[in-house]
Amino acid sequence: MKTLEITNLRAQYERSRPEVLKGVSFNLDPDDFLAIIGPSGAGKSTLIRCVNRLVEPTSGDVIFNGVNVTKLNHRELRKIRRYIGMIFQEFNLVERMSVMDNVLSGRLGYTNTLRSLFRLYPKADIKKALDLLERVGLSDFVDKRADELSGGQRQRVGIARALIQDPKLLLVDEPTSSLDPKISKEIMGMIRKMSKEEGVPTLCNIHDVNLALEFSNRVIGLQDGVKMFDGPSKNVDKKTLEEIYAFEVL
Ligand code: ADP
Repeated sequence: MKTLEITNLRAQYERSRPEVLKGVSFNLDPDDFLAIIGPSGAGKSTLIRCVNRLVEPTSGDVIFNGVNVTKLNHRELRKIRRYIGMIFQEFNLVERMSVMDNVLSGRLGYTNTLRSLFRLYPKADIKKALDLLERVGLSDFVDKRADELSGGQRQRVGIARALIQDPKLLLVDEPTSSLDPKISKEIMGMIRKMSKEEGVPTLCNIHDVNLALEFSNRVIGLQDGVKMFDGPSKNVDKKTLEEIYAFEVL
């Protein structure tokens, strides 16, 4: 079964403004690390956010492991979002909370209200958080506050927080745009490695073409809300990039 089957997806923020996604279709396979590339404003972030309905599509279908996400009511949507981990551009950490608590907050979707109110987590969650923090290289930072960390370290917390959800899909939205080039590469490498180890199919919006081609197995090229390319990363050549970025000077 495909992890995602996206058909004819359309999105528009305001009626008076142009459509942002103009009928985009593609599939995501269970072993895919799919990079979405394209000029700024092409609709990459909107596409990612339509998958878990942070942005409501105006029409089209998003089938996630056989379930049509666009048809779910609020309660069903909340439930299915447990299985969709997200890594954000701005990290979205709670600044005054510890690294450990930030990671554990990824489990909140599974915890009952009373437990979550007191931030009481099962031992298994704490064990998993420690394991993930070790694997992202943050063992020595478990009790540090999020606001004491560097950008790269903060995104590592973001990676651990997404994976502690035991996601069946990882959505990654410009994970490196607030980081310098060296750290960006490290972070992309880490997301790739962790998603492989955890066996999580990944959809990644990444503006940097070189990083996209280095770490993904497949690429989708978006231009002005339209899919211009869909194929293996190794097939992306200069001509393909010129087509996708026709309106942007590289
Ligand atoms: P990309 O990720 O490719 O840079 P986005 O999906 O962020 O593109 O944006 C696509 C278009 O939608 C842009 O024209 C942007 O200005 C517009 N847009 C994005 N988010 C919003 C929003 N919350 N409200 C209104 N317009 C938006």
